[in-house]
Amino acid sequence: STEPKEPVQVEDDQSILGTFGQIRVFAASEKKGIKAIEAAFKRIQYVEDTMSTSVNDSDVHQINQAAGEASVKVAPETIKVIEAGIKYHQITGGRFNILLGSLIELWGIGKPHQKVPTDVEIDEARKHIDIQQIEITNNKVHLKDSDMLMDLGGIAKGYAVDEAVKVLKDHGVKSGFVNMGGDVYAIGSKPDGSPWYIGVQNPIIGANNSIIRVPLVDRSIVTSGDYERYFVENGERYHHIIDPATGKPSRKQLVSVTILSDKGMDGDALSTAVFVMGLEEGLAFIEAQEGIDAILITKDKEVYVTTGIKDQIEIIDNQFKIAN
Ligand code: FAD
Ligand code: MG
Ligand code: MG
Repeated sequence: STEPKEPVQVEDDQSILGTFGQIRVFAASEKKGIKAIEAAFKRIQYVEDTMSTSVNDSDVHQINQAAGEASVKVAPETIKVIEAGIKYHQITGGRFNILLGSLIELWGIGKPHQKVPTDVEIDEARKHIDIQQIEITNNKVHLKDSDMLMDLGGIAKGYAVDEAVKVLKDHGVKSGFVNMGGDVYAIGSKPDGSPWYIGVQNPIIGANNSIIRVPLVDRSIVTSGDYERYFVENGERYHHIIDPATGKPSRKQLVSVTILSDKGMDGDALSTAVFVMGLEEGLAFIEAQEGIDAILITKDKEVYVTTGIKDQIEIIDNQFKIAN
């Protein structure tokens, strides 16, 4: 018969992009769901293989190897993400910078060589983060400064989520979500018509619960925080979001920034940038962006929310309080 069947829920996860990746879809059949998810993960793997700094022969690896010497022909996807990175550098007053590789390498957060560098080392690395030193012509990328390193870790995960969503939709998926280590996109609503509810993770180290629930339909939600990738030296904690102005982990009162937007790539870049901006500037910045909302959480468990979503979010851990 041609009677419409109940959609079948299919889910899979993979360790990918250095994080936990999870995709859930509702599909016409289990077979179709599995096929869609497989294709989406394949696309994410392609993004990793072209944009990772640590994959040998990735576009980004080749660009870094050729810095100061030659231009490298790269995939159109890589150009797209680099150009978005340059745009976000401009609109965030340089807080977002895809050329922080020299500093990221120096701090080595999460790597065996992680350590607090000297101020002299930091000042030296900071000389090699100038966005003007990147040249793009005919799908070729050239870093003019030989000590410069590109790092798309603050933006490419969001792009990978968007690409996965495209693949799922091409496979006919009308309901589901993609979660790449905190970069989430909700496709459609649940089959019963209710929105997806996405949790914002407790940013206090050691806590694992969701503290806020956000209803989401055809939108992305991306969080950046200081509580997952860090090391401790002499009682001080050093996390992975670098303030380009100081060359050090950003020290503002924020512990996490969550961005809601139509595209995961925008949310990824902006969550990182707003984390660096800090509370007041970050909140004002997002209020001024069309179609973008944010949830900013401070060390004191105060929650600041932009006007667009204030009446939609629900606090589910009452240690956290809406403050604005
Ligand atoms: P975000 O806030 O979105 O990004 C922070 C990251 O962006 C930092 O880790 C740094 O890389 C960079 N950054 C720091 N400060 C700034 C700034 N001011 N402006 C712009 N960028 C900044 N992790 C692994 O452990 N192993 C892997 O093999 C691995 N492969 C990856 C491959 C790809 C293609 C991508 C996109 C990520 C990969 N990762 C891997 C994860 C990566 O190292 C970052 O930890 C991750 O992208 C950070 O995402 P986030 O949402 O936690 O933080
Ligand atoms: Mg980011
Ligand atoms: Mg992120």
